[in-house]
Amino acid sequence: MARVLSRDPVDIENILALNPRKQTHAALHSTAAKKQVKKQWKRNSDKSCSDCEKLENNFDDIKHTTLSERGALREAMRCLKCADAPCQKSCPTNLDIKSFITSIANKNYYGAAKMILSDNPLGLTCGMVCPTSDLCVGGCNLYATEEGPINIGGLQQFATEVFKAMNIPQIRNPSLPALEDMPEVYRVKIALLGAGPASLSCASFLARLGYSNITIFEKQEYFGGLSTSEIPQFRLPYDVVQFEAELMKDLGVKIIFNKGLAIDGMTLTTLKDDGYEAVFIGIGLPEPNRDSIFQGLRMDQGFYTSKDFLPLVAMASKPGRSLGRKPRTESCCLKKRRKQD
Ligand SMILES: Cc1cc2nc3c(=O)[nH]c(=O)nc-3n(C[C@H](O)[C@H](O)[C@H](O)COP(=O)(O)OP(=O)(O)OC[C@H]3O[C@@H](n4cnc5c(N)ncnc54)[C@H](O)[C@@H]3O)c2cc1C
Ligand code: SF4
Repeated sequence: MARVLSRDPVDIENILALNPRKQTHAALHSTAAKKQVKKQWKRNSDKSCSDCEKLENNFDDIKHTTLSERGALREAMRCLKCADAPCQKSCPTNLDIKSFITSIANKNYYGAAKMILSDNPLGLTCGMVCPTSDLCVGGCNLYATEEGPINIGGLQQFATEVFKAMNIPQIRNPSLPALEDMPEVYRVKIALLGAGPASLSCASFLARLGYSNITIFEKQEYFGGLSTSEIPQFRLPYDVVQFEAELMKDLGVKIIFNKGLAIDGMTLTTLKDDGYEAVFIGIGLPEPNRDSIFQGLRMDQGFYTSKDFLPLVAMASKPGRSLGRKPRTESCCLKKRRKQD
């Protein structure tokens, strides 16, 4: 192996690397650090501060179209593949945006989706719902041009939807030793509480690392947490959540529904007694933020918090929200795209 004589900062090393690097792990960046870095690259104005411009009648976040293949190719070709890509610096999941866009431009949709899902097991969900105008798109170098910034969320959704239609299961990393040859520590019982985005993501990464005895306990009878119970169907169809959960299950992660922390006597102690050596608590934040002036008001008085209102909308708009259905079916968006093409 060649002796390393000098090393540049990571950013520069990445620019200089001639060959794409194969990620064996997710790049972890704390939310706080990312928020700080994002500020250095942001080209549009902030939306969540006291003196920010008002959001009334501001529909910037609405994605008007799902990209057709032709639209996606045109958009991908427009990307400058910037050396020091600010879009990636503004992405909370640190996706290698210019690389997946390059793959799309080369019509390598599988490669693009693999890159996205390697860094973010919920890559399709994020492509569909992320407030990209405030994140990656907000930092895009093309912001001030006539055609505007790259529709990164649209491209991400396009690549991962094509991959979804390919019906390819996730496989265990072939470079890992066989299950029986893995060190004992990889066989410990791990419990994850809640089957929301946090646990689905955590379980996927653990399973990719080679941990083989992972169980998720979910108190409801569906996956996805808020993605399922509060984000309405038109924004995030349930089959998208199922698709990502199935990818995780491909790696052997087990899910037990209708069971969870403080349900039927389950506590951290009983989990420990049952042999679980590690527990991830991903049960979300179930309580709404309620301004003190609204204390005491109830639904029957016409007062709804988001936690009252959104689950009702989701329940009514997600008829397929159940456990058993096989998810890998063509989604409505893909059918629409086929028609456009
Ligand atoms: C309308 C809406 C739009 C959003 N848009 C975006 C967006 O565009 N981009 C974005 O990044 N985020 C968005 N979010 C936020 C995102 O959905 C949440 O950040 C995310 O769901 C949090 O994931 P979580 O796994 O931590 O918690 P949750 O999604 O709350 O999941 C927790 C899970 O734990 C289960 N649980 C609870 N208690 C127990 C227990 N005792 N035992 C076992 N299981 C239990 C719950 O049933 C649930 O399934 C949006 C949220 C909403 C409501
Ligand atoms: S900043 Fe915009 S143009 Fe540059 S690589 Fe990212 S998406 Fe492409």
